[in-house]
Amino acid sequence: MSAALDLVPLFRFVLVRTSHPGNIGSAARALRTMGFSRMELVAPHRFPDPEASALAAGADDVLDAAGRHAGLVDALAGSNLALGLSARRRGVNLPELSPREGVAMALAAAARGEQVAWVFGNERTGLENEELARCHAMVRIPSVDDFSSLNLSQAVQVMAYELRVGLLGDELPAPPPLHDEPPADAAQMERFYEHLAQTLDDIEFHKGRAPTTIMLRLRKLFQRAQMDERELRMLHGILADAQRMASLAVRPDKAPRES
Ligand code: SAH
Repeated sequence: MSAALDLVPLFRFVLVRTSHPGNIGSAARALRTMGFSRMELVAPHRFPDPEASALAAGADDVLDAAGRHAGLVDALAGSNLALGLSARRRGVNLPELSPREGVAMALAAAARGEQVAWVFGNERTGLENEELARCHAMVRIPSVDDFSSLNLSQAVQVMAYELRVGLLGDELPAPPPLHDEPPADAAQMERFYEHLAQTLDDIEFHKGRAPTTIMLRLRKLFQRAQMDERELRMLHGILADAQRMASLAVRPDKAPRES
């Protein structure tokens, strides 16, 4: 057996706002057949549900252990790389990978000890831009253009299969040099984006424009950078200084006196 199978616990499959409990069951079965066990559910419409259990067809261990979360950020806690599965390109211009390219990227991350999340959207609406913005890249299963959308659990099956093939393969990608600092995880990045958004407000950057688009672009920029914890601390420091200066600017009474 491939030593790479030791990496299996580093992978999680996240199902966002799933409408049909049957799909949750089928996804659990799909994962179980490929040796994966970690499923995280974000705001499922109905779960637990007899339909989920029926379609899990015995993969009850996966179903019973599934985490439940109110939002995607919680489901990504502790993960360092998030890959969003999407049938079509969205407003967020993330790098688009094939499933195999996604697997190569995921295996390289896992070989460094990082946790990887595969993120799947709602059956009808897919992943929202806000959700894709929390991913580092988008994976598209190369279906035909005029009928591109797979059933959710079948998309999970295809991705889990490709990942298993990658794990069973002989050649794991040589792990790139180790970070000397741990890479930032999803929760740390989220705190950084909150701090950044607040600072942009404080320095009156938006000037009446809606902040949504700029925040999505900034997320894309910083996600691409895959920052480590030290880099994140430095950026928090810069933001805190900008906030301090902004508060001096609006409240000149607080400015240090000139001697
Ligand atoms: N109309 C939706 C389809 C949702 S299908 C859309 O266009 O996005 C439910 C989920 O299955 C998707 O959010 C995605 O995570 C996955 N999926 C379906 N087809 C896919 C494909 N061709 N490539 C990658 N993921 C796909």
